[in-house]
This record gives sequence, C-alpha cells and structure tokens, in this order.
Amino acid sequence: MEPREIFLGALKREATARPAKGSATSVVTVDLMDKVGAHFPEAHLDEEKMARLASAGHTQIGFDNVMPLFGVCTESAALGVEVDWGQVDVMPTCRRPLYGIEDEVVIPENLLTRPSCRAALRALELLKKWHGEEVALVGKVFGPWTLGYHVFGVEEFLVNTLLKPDAVKHAMATLKEVTVRFGLAQLEAGADALCLADHATRDVCSPGAYDAFLFEIHQEMVERLPCPLILHICGDTSDRIPRIRETGLDCFHFDSKVPAAVARERAGEALALMGGTSNLEVIRKGTPERIRQDVRDKVEHAVDIIGPECAVPLDSPFQNMKTLADEVEAYSDVRP
Ligand SMILES: [Zn+2]
Repeated sequence: MEPREIFLGALKREATARPAKGSATSVVTVDLMDKVGAHFPEAHLDEEKMARLASAGHTQIGFDNVMPLFGVCTESAALGVEVDWGQVDVMPTCRRPLYGIEDEVVIPENLLTRPSCRAALRALELLKKWHGEEVALVGKVFGPWTLGYHVFGVEEFLVNTLLKPDAVKHAMATLKEVTVRFGLAQLEAGADALCLADHATRDVCSPGAYDAFLFEIHQEMVERLPCPLILHICGDTSDRIPRIRETGLDCFHFDSKVPAAVARERAGEALALMGGTSNLEVIRKGTPERIRQDVRDKVEHAVDIIGPECAVPLDSPFQNMKTLADEVEAYSDVRP
C-alpha cells in the first residue's frame, strides 16, 4: 500500500497495512527549513518554497501526507487583516482586527487570487505534480469561529457570543463562505482531504456554545466540502467529542490534553482520530524510548493517524518526528 492509500484509508477507518502517520497541521521546524533550504517567513507567500518545505514532511520525516498551509493567517490576510508574517522561528500573527461585531464583513471578489491564498493554491498544484498518487495531499481551511477571532479580535468575538449572539451568528454565516470557497479551490488544486481548523476549545467555548454556534455549521461543511474532512481543535475537547462525531466529519485531530483512551471511547467506531501526541513532551524533548511508548499508546487506543497534536514548536528537532514515523512502521501488518 502506498502512503497515500494508507492515510486516506485511515481517515475512513478502513483496514490498512499499518496505522497511518502524519498531521493535518504544520510539521515545520527550523532545522527542517535548513535541511531543504526553504524558510519562514518567505515560505508563507512563495509557492515554490512553500511546496518544497511541505514536501519535507514526507521526504525527510517520512509521514504519509504533506500539508503546505503552515500558519493561521492565510484567509485572514486575503480578507484584509493586517498580518505580521513572523520570522524564521516565529509563526505569523494577525496584527489588529478589521471590524466590530456589528459591521458587515465584506468578502473580496478576488479572495482566492490575493497573494496568501494564491500561493497556497499554487503550492498544492506543485505538490500534486511532485507526489502524485504516492503521498496524501492535505489542505487546510479555518472555520468561521477562528476567522471570527482574526477579523473581530478574540475579545470582541467572544464577549459578543454572550452579549450579541445574533450578530455573531450573522458574522459566522458570512465567514463560513470563506471557508467553503477556499476549501473547494484547494480540492480543485489537488488536495485529497482538508483540515478544518476551528478553535472552539472548552476554555473559550462551552459545550452549549458549541451547539449554539458551531454544530450546524460543521454539519454543513460536511455537505458542502466533498472530501474527507479533519476537524482540528486544540486543548481539552473531551466534553464535545460525542457531538463532533454526530456532525458526520470523518476525523478529529485531537490534543494531548485528551488521553487517547478517552478520545477513542468518546469518538466511537465511526470517527477517525489523528494526533494526540504531545508537542512539548514528545515531539520537542522526547527520547527515542518516550516516543516509542507514545506510539504504542496511540496504537493500543486505535488512533488512526499517529503524529503531533497541533503545529509543532519551531525549535523541535525534526528527527523526533522521523523517529516517530519509523516507529509506526514497526506496526506494519500487526494491527488488529
Ligand atoms: Zn491546534
């Protein structure tokens, strides 16, 4: 089985020759950038550098997928939010919000040809050419909750989920169209699957708020984005995994704050699981023995795609992810 088949099979919880290995979020580190000669911040806006760096997720680390959208500001920059593209060792951030909650969000006609979106779409086309049928190509879109943080500011957005919930819902209904448009364009550019990142963590979004603001939108994404969809939410999400599984999403990319046993128990049989490996304890400072233990824990609890919980810290040694990927190979054909 090619890595692509294993990865896409694992997203559907089909029987595969071994567990899949990879990530729906960035696996870029400074030493990986040095290794392939493509660096941040240029690699956020230059399609060739972006594709070369994403490619290293397979060629250098050994993961079954590649994913070229490293930061969180691609769509927001195209919407007009001022972005600080960061440094070689600093991820991009949105500088200041664009709107107040009652302002009407305007989606530019040329959203997809603005520099940040255009670079990502072209990088996906390049990766499709380079890796074709062999490696799974994962794209990434942000859902309207995270886009809300960027265009309104986190505080303005969150306060108004309580004070002006109708204004928040109206804004999210507009912003979700950005998610759909960019997602469909990524599929057209060659993506096999999409990461839907929507940062509705328990500390900022109660289970009631997940139901009120997001459940139906996540269901709608399943209908409108015709591909395997991987929902990524950081932090402790154990209380909402049963609801996530009811959305019809294919896979949940979970944080190490949720133990793998809990994640599997709440996800049931239909929802595939990805990640759950601690970035700080395992990816950044894990010994080979610690990494081996972690892989064993994930295999035992039927995590379908093994890898980091979220975008890896830029100062991690990429060798640790290679060790993890090699370790997963040891489980070839022994999966129940
Ligand atoms: Zn995350």
